[in-house]
Amino acid sequence: MNFLEKKICDEGVVLSSTVLKVDSFLNHQIDPEFMQQIGREIANRFQSEGITKIVTIESSGIAPAVFAGLELKVPVLFARKKKSLTLTEDLLTSTVYSFTKQEKNGISVSKKFVQSGDNVLIIDDFLAHGEAALGLADLVTKADAHIAGFGIVIEKSFQVGRRKLEEEGYRVESIARVKEMSTNGISFIQSEVMSS
Ligand code: 5GP
Repeated sequence: MNFLEKKICDEGVVLSSTVLKVDSFLNHQIDPEFMQQIGREIANRFQSEGITKIVTIESSGIAPAVFAGLELKVPVLFARKKKSLTLTEDLLTSTVYSFTKQEKNGISVSKKFVQSGDNVLIIDDFLAHGEAALGLADLVTKADAHIAGFGIVIEKSFQVGRRKLEEEGYRVESIARVKEMSTNGISFIQSEVMSS
């Protein structure tokens, strides 16, 4: 079991066969040292790719993205889900459907922060149906930037997200891949970690 799989088993709460709660270190309270280890692991996997920018989505993608950005020494841009009064520049926008909240959200970033010539690593906390990931990919594509791949903290492999991204030709790196879960336990698809 890798360090994240162990943490999920120790602290995660399976709310149903499809929803995992990890509020103690990722989605509500953040464990900074642990998140740094996650960021380092994602960064290691894309170290040789010449990443120039990380793009994520508020709010739970920000912590792993910032630590990966610290390792790769690149800026981290987060897409906003709500219109901000201070976000007045030219915007790139897309729409994301949330299966957990059963609602559509517009997401946006300022054009000036992601440009053609950028080689982007997209990071998010969970990969489920792939909606958030594809929405972020849409923003980056609209900026004419290149997508080097996706760094995901927890992938629910029994849902269609990975398949959708791979069908589009994207590289997907997930630190933990949940194969199956129930209130009796969680099983993982073995994933090797590069950092200790
Ligand atoms: P997707 O767009 O791939 O269907 O879902 C990704 C987004 O939904 C993530 O950014 C995450 O916020 C949320 N999400 C999906 N599944 C789960 C889950 O099992 N637990 C938690 N905490 N968030 C989830």
